[in-house]
Amino acid sequence: MRDPADAADLLQWYDRHARDLPWRVGPRARAAGVRPDPYRIWLSEIMLQQTTVAAVKDYFRVFTERWPTVETLAAAPDAEVMAAWAGLGYYARARNLLKCARVVTADHGGVFPADHDVLLTLPGVGPYTAAAISAIAFDAPRVVVDGNVERVMARLYDEHTPLPAAKPILTDHAAALTPDARPGDYAQAVMDLGATICTPKRPACGLCPWRTSCAAWANGTALELPKKAPKKRKPVRQGVAYLARRVDGAWLLETRPDKGLLGGMLGWPGTDWLDVEGPAPEEDPPIRAEWKTVGGEARHTFTHFHLRLVVKTALVPMDRKPHRGDFIALPDFSPSDLPTVMRKAFDLAQGR
Ligand code: SF4
Repeated sequence: MRDPADAADLLQWYDRHARDLPWRVGPRARAAGVRPDPYRIWLSEIMLQQTTVAAVKDYFRVFTERWPTVETLAAAPDAEVMAAWAGLGYYARARNLLKCARVVTADHGGVFPADHDVLLTLPGVGPYTAAAISAIAFDAPRVVVDGNVERVMARLYDEHTPLPAAKPILTDHAAALTPDARPGDYAQAVMDLGATICTPKRPACGLCPWRTSCAAWANGTALELPKKAPKKRKPVRQGVAYLARRVDGAWLLETRPDKGLLGGMLGWPGTDWLDVEGPAPEEDPPIRAEWKTVGGEARHTFTHFHLRLVVKTALVPMDRKPHRGDFIALPDFSPSDLPTVMRKAFDLAQGR
């Protein structure tokens, strides 16, 4: 019978090898009494949903320099926050981010609630995020299970049930290991182990503090785990984006409706996005013009489908009025304010 994994071994490892993250209070500072700012922990957790640490770091820096407190974020104009979020994807998160900042400011006096159940009532805060904020910001013994933790647990217990069916089993393992002492550091330590040692393709078992307790290491099965149920093929959709430029250099843009994909983001007027196997989307240029089709397609993959966007461009005179969108002059428009798919359409139109 192997020894059960011990949280203390992992915490010792974490004390030496914790990743340096801009939102994190490292183990040494924490031991010296420094406490994390719940605003920064919440912001990082919302940004990290479906996104990597590497992709988030710069956005986190920009947001916290521009809006250092939840009150300053709550007071920011929607369009500025959406523009600052552009490129990070999953835009419903940005809309909920603002709603949540405003609820915390208006209803909680600008102080994030420490109570896990109250955290769960905040916009955009689901069970995972509430557990992560409770553990990391308030040092509560909550079980935090992200993809890294799932991989570590599947290997530690040599669990071969495929994901997502394995989730409750892996969560039970993670819960059994969560210690009463330093639960916040422990939650971060398991994530760090998964991100830096117990990696998907090349686990560095020789450096792992849990090697002697690890069933997958003993059985030589680490690389097979975690098992995953086969993914469904994503459908492909098609659409047209219309990029109109006025002779003075202004671009015709529209803010997308709040609900739905890319909701509230700035974008090019366009057709619906329909399955390539069905009828082609009905053309609906936003302004009368001589439209030219750019060679190639802007391609982008969303969570549930691949998109192929035909890009059409036109140069229009000053007095022509659009029936959709507004012309935005260059000092007020930067392509970096656009979500990635719209930026790809812009790049294609620019011949990039
Ligand atoms: S011994 Fe290897 S497989 Fe097991 S937890 Fe550590 S890194 Fe992962």
